[in-house]
Order: sequence, then structure tokens, then C-alpha cells
Amino acid sequence: MLTVTELRRNFGEHRALDNVSFEVRPGRMTGFIGANGSGKTTTMRIILGVLAAHGGSVVWHGAPITQAVRQRFGYMPEERGLYPKAKVAEQITWLGRLHGLDHATARENTLRLLEQLELAERAGDKLEELSLGNQQRAQVAAALVHDPTLLILDEPFSGLDPIAVETMLGVLRERADSGVPVLFSSHQLGLVERLCDDVVIISGGVVKASGGREELRAKYGSRRFELVLENDAGWLRDLPEVRIVDLDGPRAVFEPIGNGRTDQRVLRAALERGAVRSFTPVVPSLNEIFKEAI
Ligand code: ATP
Repeated sequence: MLTVTELRRNFGEHRALDNVSFEVRPGRMTGFIGANGSGKTTTMRIILGVLAAHGGSVVWHGAPITQAVRQRFGYMPEERGLYPKAKVAEQITWLGRLHGLDHATARENTLRLLEQLELAERAGDKLEELSLGNQQRAQVAAALVHDPTLLILDEPFSGLDPIAVETMLGVLRERADSGVPVLFSSHQLGLVERLCDDVVIISGGVVKASGGREELRAKYGSRRFELVLENDAGWLRDLPEVRIVDLDGPRAVFEPIGNGRTDQRVLRAALERGAVRSFTPVVPSLNEIFKEAI
């Protein structure tokens, strides 16, 4: 498990990270989401030791991260790292060797990954001859070639077509399922919602929410209910205890105001007026959780 505790980082007067804490758990895909400039890349760079923190700690399985431990991490940086003029398979193999693999293993891993990422036919081409989406697949192969113990990916899905997203997803899921903690940033909240077991929401260098996706859903969803009646639901507007979120004929989405079992009182009031078709707590989308959290 990777544990990030109270990370702080300034750039001049600007506080880019303000006591950032979260965990990346083994076997879990953790989505790191936040607006542009919220601190995702800065956090990832600090985890990878590319950038120094001004405070706080990053700990791997309870111990400080040494160079040898870090060498086993896999990182796909935002600025991407491969050489445009070098051949795809050759440079990925070379990177595998830099991470401590012998040549045969590095070569074997490279070819297996390129196959998995549907890039085998381009193995002998220079990186710059590939489309941007295919270059990105090659970057992922480079992050994975040494079978990393931890995987950190900065926007791995940006600019990929839906089929490439699925391919990439399969490869990352497989790593997570084998017990590797995977942290990736993304602006595609729908994708994060579908992929992630855990989510970290950051805004202005401050973590606003973190934890299991379902946990967050339950936390943010407990306040909202959908009521579908047989007749018009307009009378709900007159109840002082509820805030209407959406009202459309017999269907209303509302939030109880204050504490207590307002939801149950609203249901009783509805039943007194006629038949109730459904009454359900609303499960918020990640998009809604994100907006509320920040
Ligand atoms: P994006 O989604 O756009 O990639 P991000 O969440 O990754 O954004 P960071 O790149 O971590 O955000 O930037 C966080 C803040 O720190 C921003 O205000 C950014 O301008 C600032 N920052 C990052 N790197 C530097 C640097 N080298 N020098 C000065 N300021 C920096």
C-alpha cells in the first residue's frame, strides 16, 4: 500500500499542495480527479521522487521509499517520456533493462505488452511514425515493462478512441487484479466512475474527498430521494422540510433539510395523498459527487 500523508509543496508564493493525504491500496484502481492545476501531477511527481516535497511523507508498505524500491515503480508521466526517433520495441526493452531486467526478460515483456496493447505490428517502427493514440499505448507499455509493484499514470486515457480505452483498461485492470496498486489521473469522470474502486478528489491542492467509490456514493447520496407518485408531486414544494432538486409532474427529487427522518415523513404525506409508485435514495454520479466535493 502507498500512503501519502500531509504532503505540502509550494511554487514561490503559490501553495500547490496543502496537506494532501490519501492511500493507494493493493489490487485497487484509484482515480485521481481534479480540475486543471489542482495538484495531481505535482503529487505524482513527489511520489515518484521527481520533485521534492516541502513537507509530509510518502510511504510504501509502511517504510520510506528507497531508490531500489522506487526503481520497481511504474510511471507514465504527463509529458510522456519516450524518444520520438527511437524504435518502439527497442526503447521499451532498453527501459526494462534500466529498471533492472536482463535483456531476454525485458524483450519478452516488451513483445507481450505490445501484443496485449495491439501494437505488435508497429514494434519495429520509430515512435514518431505512430499516431498519437498508438504512441500513448507505447508509453503505457514502457510504464509496465518491468512488472511494476506500483503503477502511477498521468492521464493515460486522454486522447484515446473508445476501443483503445477498452484495451488500455483491460491491461491496467489485469495489473490491479494481480495486486498492484494503480493510481491514475483523469478528467474523464465517466471513465473513472466505471473503472475505479477508489477515488481521490483534489481541488486547489486540498483533498476534498477520498475513499471507496461506493462509500463516497453512499455518503453523498444519503441526502437525496426520488419520489414517483401517480398524481402531480407539486405539493412537495409547500413542505418546509424539503429542498426540491427536480420536479417534473409526478416525479420529484428532493433533499430533506435538517436532521431526523424527514424522508419517512415525506413518504407518509405522499401515501396520504394517493398511490406512490416508487421511493428511492438517489445514487449520485461521480460527476455530482465531484461538484459537491469541490
Ligand atoms: P492538469 O489537470 O492541468 O494536469 P494538475 O492537477 O496536474 O493539472 P499540477 O500540474 O500539479 O496540476 O499543478 C498544480 C499547481 O502548481 C498549478 O497551479 C501549477 O501552475 C503549479 N505548478 C506546477 N508545477 C510548477 C512549476 N514547476 N513551477 C511553478 N508552478 C508550478
